[in-house]
This record gives sequence, structure tokens and C-alpha cells, in this order.
Amino acid sequence: MTEARYDAQLEQRYRERSLWLDGVPSSLSPRPHLPGDGTCDVAIVGAGTTGLWTAYYLKSLAPELDVALVEREIAGFGASGRNGGGIGPGISGNPRVYSRHHDPELVRMAERLAYQAVDDIGQVIEKEGIDCGWRKGGWLRVAVTPSQRQRIDGFIEEKRRWGAGPEDWRLLEPDEVEQRVRIPGAIAGLYTPHAASINPARFVRGLADAVERLGVAIYEKTAAIRIEPGRVVTPHGTVRARHVLRATEAFTVQLPGERRRFLPLYSLMIATEPLSAGVWSSIGLENREHVGDLCHVAFYGQRTSDDRLALGGRGVPYRFGAPVDERYERQPEVEERLTRVIAERFPAAAGAKITHHWGGAIAVPRDWCVSAHYDPSTGFGWAGGYSGGGNNNSHLCGRVMADLVLGRNTELTGLPLVGHQTRLWEHEPLRLIASRSIVAISRSADKVEQHSTRTARRVALVRPFVRGHG
Ligand SMILES: Cc1cc2nc3c(=O)[nH]c(=O)nc-3n(C[C@H](O)[C@H](O)[C@H](O)COP(=O)(O)OP(=O)(O)OC[C@H]3O[C@@H](n4cnc5c(N)ncnc54)[C@H](O)[C@@H]3O)c2cc1C
Repeated sequence: MTEARYDAQLEQRYRERSLWLDGVPSSLSPRPHLPGDGTCDVAIVGAGTTGLWTAYYLKSLAPELDVALVEREIAGFGASGRNGGGIGPGISGNPRVYSRHHDPELVRMAERLAYQAVDDIGQVIEKEGIDCGWRKGGWLRVAVTPSQRQRIDGFIEEKRRWGAGPEDWRLLEPDEVEQRVRIPGAIAGLYTPHAASINPARFVRGLADAVERLGVAIYEKTAAIRIEPGRVVTPHGTVRARHVLRATEAFTVQLPGERRRFLPLYSLMIATEPLSAGVWSSIGLENREHVGDLCHVAFYGQRTSDDRLALGGRGVPYRFGAPVDERYERQPEVEERLTRVIAERFPAAAGAKITHHWGGAIAVPRDWCVSAHYDPSTGFGWAGGYSGGGNNNSHLCGRVMADLVLGRNTELTGLPLVGHQTRLWEHEPLRLIASRSIVAISRSADKVEQHSTRTARRVALVRPFVRGHG
């Protein structure tokens, strides 16, 4: 195959990964791969937002450091270039789980810092001139059944316990929901202003450019075969470094010895064609709130900066043997379900052309909590396990990792997510059974709750596997 044809095929493969990558105005042609053996101070594997934020803060704090990033495909190829674009509120995972091992005050501080992170990210976007449609319109989840309405009360009560006030999280009455979004049958809403919507591919690609401008070498089309203390081995050569950091999120399970680290859960999205001003005046979302519902199999999404409706939801479970695979990124069953969600929740957009369908895996640790690890004696570290909340949490982890590598003792390095230990997932087939049960039972619980005022009892069956019960 000629080089030009190969490049064109690659470009197409990358663009097909998401609406957002499809719309990136500049070429997605990979940067050069690692030219051979080399050395640097810090080698980072994975050019998603975790790897890039870590590099960004390392170079911002210590410009003299020699930092190299090794990426198997291109910057933003993974979840960072495909996600729902919500920079969402709070730390991933249940505060109660962190507080089993840490001072509750530190857990409160982590929540507060994660709220603050939304503005911090916005400031970097502005400073670096990243054109990604940033809009801080908040986070809105709508209840359409009495049991969902009850869950809002429980959620807010829990948030209050962890330091949030009414300015952070509050219940919206039906008329307040209606001012923001017109969803038939909405009986309440849950809202926080601490969230923004972005075009994630434009953001992650812009962050990669910013990191490069700071002097970081990014090697694309360079797969790490081994990621070890002191070295990263690739088919193009070995990078030796005092500090080696892994930022491979859901793909981590493909690495030797890491299979049980995360449960890779697929999240899939669809996007409509751009919708007319008339349709949007029926729907609302004028502030581009990151929107969703409170079903067990919830939808999430946003009004994009080019006026599409982009919605996502959980995919069908992975198959035994290959937990992360491009074959799971498009599933007719999920596409149909999300198209039905548009018709039911946003009837003004029913019948709009669906132009894109895509997806990716999120990395779920056994207790659904995020962690950042660094061992100063070996110089090896990793961060991740965001359980689907990485847009905000990867920024926090990037700052944490930079401080840990630089040996700085800061408020960030005392956070509960630093060195947080989670047990590994069960061996197969139990992990697969857990993944299937979460999806199947959540779906049937939603059906039951349509005719009941209480949370379906069957949810208790999957509780040992879900958020906060590791
Ligand atoms: C459909 C979908 C919707 C989502 N919606 C949201 C949302 O609205 N809000 C939110 O906060 N989060 C959301 N998430 C989750 C969020 O996208 C992730 O948590 C976040 O992007 C993780 O960033 P990361 O850099 O850790 O991982 P990734 O972006 O996955 O980056 C990992 C990188 O490592 C590279 N890599 C892997 N293995 C190797 C190797 N061996 N050698 C070299 N490179 C390697 C990959 O190619 C990839 O580029 C969503 C995820 C999906 C899939």
C-alpha cells in the first residue's frame, strides 16, 4: 500500500471513532513515531487527558524536565476524544469509600477541588487558546418517576454530608426544570453549576498542541509493549526514564498482568444533524447544560456548540476473551435505544437524522474510585479508574501526578485518591457476569420503576458490584 493511501485510511479510521474526531478541522495524521532508543526524565504512556494533563503540569512547574509521551495511535484516540463532553462535578466514586481509609475532611477537600477544577480547566482552555466550544452551563439530571425523584433527595443529602451547600447542588422544581429543558413528564431535576460542556476531541487535540509548545515530545503510532520502572519498551525502541507513568485507562486491561485492574464498560453515543433554532426553542438547553436522566440505565448528553443533540448511554457488555475491542463501539441495539430516548425525551427532535454513532470503554475499578499511584523508590506511577468521569478527574490526577513526581508536598498529594487501594475484579467469568448483570438488572429495574413509587428491590442484587460497594 502506498504511504498516501495508508495515511488516508488511518485518517478515516480516526475520524470514524467519534462525532468529535470527525469534526476536528486539522489533519489527524499521526505525529512521528519514536525514532529509536532514547532517554528522558519522565516517560508517560497514553496521550489522553490523563497523560497530557500530567505532562502539562510537569512542564509548567519544572520547564527544565525532559518529558516524552508515547501514544499507540494519536492524541485523543481513546475515551478522551470520544466522550460526552461533560466536565462534571466532583470526584469519581463514593466519598464514603474514600473515608473508610482517610480523614473525612480530606474527602471534603477533594470534592471542593474537583468543583474548582471546572474553572481551572476553563482557564487553561482560555490561556492556551483551545477552540473547543467550552460553556459552563452546569449539570442537570431530570427525574421522570417518583423513585427517581426520591433518589434526588438521597443524593443531595449525601452531598451535604460531604460539604456541599445549596449553591453546589439543589433540587429543581418542575417549573425550574422547564426553564432549562422541556422533557415530557419531568417531575424534578438535580442541578449543580459546577460543570461545563466541551467538544472533547477539539479539547484533547488542543491540549496536546499546548503540551508540545511547552517542549514535550509526543510520539504517536508508538505502542508500549512493556511499561516498567525505568523503561518503556516499544517496537521502535526503548525509552529509559527515571520516572515512568502509565495513563492508559480502559486499555490498561490489555497489558500483561493488568487484566483484572478494571471492568471495561462500554458507553455509546449518537448525534443528530444540526437542529434548527425552532427545534431548540422547543427543547431549551440554552446554557448547554450537560443533561441526562436518573434512570438506572441513564442517558447523558449535550447540545453541541454546532447545535446538534449528542446523547450517550451504556452499551451492551463486552464478550469473553477480548474486553476492549473496536467491534463493540457501534451496537444497533444501543443506537435504537438512544434514538428512542430522543423521541421520548426530546420529541421536537424526533425524526432528526442521526449522523454519527460511536463509543468507547470506561475503566471501572472494583470500588468505582479513582486512584493516583507513584512509588518514589522505583519512579513508577499510574493514575485513572475514573468510572466514566475522567474529564474533570484526569485534570486533578494530572496535577497530583506532577506534584508526586516532583516530590512536592502539597494539598493535592494528601488527597484520598493518592495511593488509594482497590481490590482487583474477580476472575472471569465472574467479571463478565458482573458486567452483564449490571446492565440487565439496571434495565429491568427502570421498567419496574415506571409503575412504582420506590426504587426497585432488584437493584440490591448488583449493589456488591456498583459504585461505592467495592
Ligand atoms: C462514550 C463515552 C462518554 C463519556 N462521557 C464522559 C463525560 O461526559 N464526562 C466525563 O467526565 N467522562 C466521560 N467519559 C469518560 C472519559 O472520557 C474518560 O474517563 C477519560 O477520557 C479518560 O482519559 P484517559 O486519558 O485516562 O484515557 P484515554 O483517553 O482512553 O487515553 C488513553 C490513551 O492511551 C493510549 N494507549 C493505550 N494503550 C497503550 C499502549 N500500550 N501504548 C501506548 N499508548 C497506549 C490509547 O491509545 C489512548 O489514547 C466518557 C467515556 C466514553 C467512552
